[in-house]
Amino acid sequence: MTAPVLALDQLGRAYERGHWIFRGLALTLAAGERVALVGPSGSGKSTLLNLVAGLDLPDEGQVRIAGQSLAELDEGGRARIRRDGIGFVFQAFHLVGHLSLWQNVAVPLLLQGEAPGRARERACAILASLGLGQRTSSLPLTLSGGEQQRVALARALVHRPALILADEPTGNLDPETAAVALDLIDGQARDCGAALLLVTHSDQAAAIADRRLRLTPTGLVDAG
Ligand code: ADP
Ligand code: MG
Repeated sequence: MTAPVLALDQLGRAYERGHWIFRGLALTLAAGERVALVGPSGSGKSTLLNLVAGLDLPDEGQVRIAGQSLAELDEGGRARIRRDGIGFVFQAFHLVGHLSLWQNVAVPLLLQGEAPGRARERACAILASLGLGQRTSSLPLTLSGGEQQRVALARALVHRPALILADEPTGNLDPETAAVALDLIDGQARDCGAALLLVTHSDQAAAIADRRLRLTPTGLVDAG
């Protein structure tokens, strides 16, 4: 039996001693499974995604990616798991300001050892599929928020990760562009059999997930 793409076991995080953001989170995502995560602002959704990506460490419990406990790895090991297996669409984009759009998107491929010419081709192709084919040499700050969000999405998906983490990926997009972005996530997740954990308040976005979970201080509960 292969290990699930993601397993959370009794996961808890407290930024201050005794003040738990959440405790007791449990979740298993098999390849191809998609969950939309909802919860009020401040409930810890972004914190949870950071724990799953190994960008932050829990105060209790475990995150396992493909059976590997992140706490048992060093920083380098966690960075390798992120590089090879995870696509993260951050709420705040985190694009590199002095790199062009295609260079931003090519970073995950170059880190994996893809040849520069091929990395540029793949980066430009995915940008074109998101309607940014004419802007591949622009710098991120010359773009609107919605355009930057599409670049962040392209960068998260270009290396075909087994686990896609997306923090409000359509939050800055008009409904039409949101539909394009969601199609890309949906299609890519299907093509790669990727698991998807999608933080969203939009019904349009939640529709590409199989189920909806609410983040509460004491666990993840079914939200229909
Ligand atoms: P959400 O994404 O659901 O809006 P967050 O995960 O950003 O929630 O935040 C959850 C709670 O943790 C909030 O109360 C926030 O103020 C707090 N928090 C988030 N990051 C940090 C941090 N680095 N240090 C201290 N507190 C934090
Ligand atoms: Mg957040």
